[in-house]
Amino acid sequence: MMKSHMRKITVVFFILPIIGWLFGLSLFTSVYASSAPVKLRILQTTDMHGHLMDENDEGESVSDFGLVRTATLIKNERNENKNVLLFDTGDILEGNAFADYIFQTRLMHLGQTHPVINVMNILRYDAMTLGNHEFNYGIGFLTESLRDATFPIISSNIYNEDMTKNIFDDVSYMNPYVILDRTLVDANGDERAIKIGVIGFLTPIVADWNSNYFKQKLKMRTITETANQYIPQMKAKGADIIIALAHVGVNADKGLSAHEGNSVNELKSIENIDVILFGHSHNIFPEKPNEWFQSQTTPFIVQAGHWGNHLGRIELELTQNGNKWIIEGGATSVIPIYKQVKGKKVPNVSKDKQVEALIKRPYKELKSFRKWHAH
Ligand SMILES: [Zn+2]
Repeated sequence: MMKSHMRKITVVFFILPIIGWLFGLSLFTSVYASSAPVKLRILQTTDMHGHLMDENDEGESVSDFGLVRTATLIKNERNENKNVLLFDTGDILEGNAFADYIFQTRLMHLGQTHPVINVMNILRYDAMTLGNHEFNYGIGFLTESLRDATFPIISSNIYNEDMTKNIFDDVSYMNPYVILDRTLVDANGDERAIKIGVIGFLTPIVADWNSNYFKQKLKMRTITETANQYIPQMKAKGADIIIALAHVGVNADKGLSAHEGNSVNELKSIENIDVILFGHSHNIFPEKPNEWFQSQTTPFIVQAGHWGNHLGRIELELTQNGNKWIIEGGATSVIPIYKQVKGKKVPNVSKDKQVEALIKRPYKELKSFRKWHAH
């Protein structure tokens, strides 16, 4: 009698908490269970320098550069993946005969859109940051060129020159960052809202190289200092992940007086930056094209060469736990638009018809413009 009573108590003593725990757990999991995996592809172009067509300054066809081919890679990625974002890390406006022609003819005065912006609009870029070469034709031309962009253009460490040493009253030259509201689709096909913070950085050497335009108008601040100012703000505004668009090399520019804090090497140790897309030095990173470079740690970093010769690509594996987004892993790679066959450069992809149709006319005009000026 006594024994069975004890057993009952024992059963109640042990079983009830387990039932309670299981019940609690099921409640807990229904609210906080991790979502099905979400794959997010982040694409990058950089240092385009006006190279839209597969054509060099002499008007000859080439296979190793031109956004007209990179566009095909971009569209392939969009066709094969549900969640794709596209960014550019600057130096779009200056650097070839075509860019010079657009500057000299000032098509924007006639109400036309700068051809580079035109192409970027139809390729539906999600955001871009400025490169130092954006300033080569002056601030007026820069403003005019960017006027028709249908995507945000951001840069956080360019400030209006206010001639004071007080940094607290500094006003940014343009929007330092943007928080993109996007809906991603998980492996089960469920839609999930995410806030993607995107911030832009530019090497301060631009103030030396373009001092005629910067003097008394604009000033630069150190990249890491600006990151430390804005990244917490972006987090406070609900950014689930943060992507840095950095027009700066792995190392700081030689000759830069403020050498410290102005490199990708230093930016990558700033807390809460999950992805760095960078440009400026025209290299590629990771260095083996077409091979996925796995990494378990943030930030994930990529550099897509120059002139559209590669597309930078990062795949983030995410889950959503309650309201919190977690980066479970990811990989980076760069895809070239051409390959070497017996010492010859052969295209990997055909030209995108939509982009080609859009730029045919201004490139043709460039040819007659050249002929006219040669006589
Ligand atoms: Zn460049």
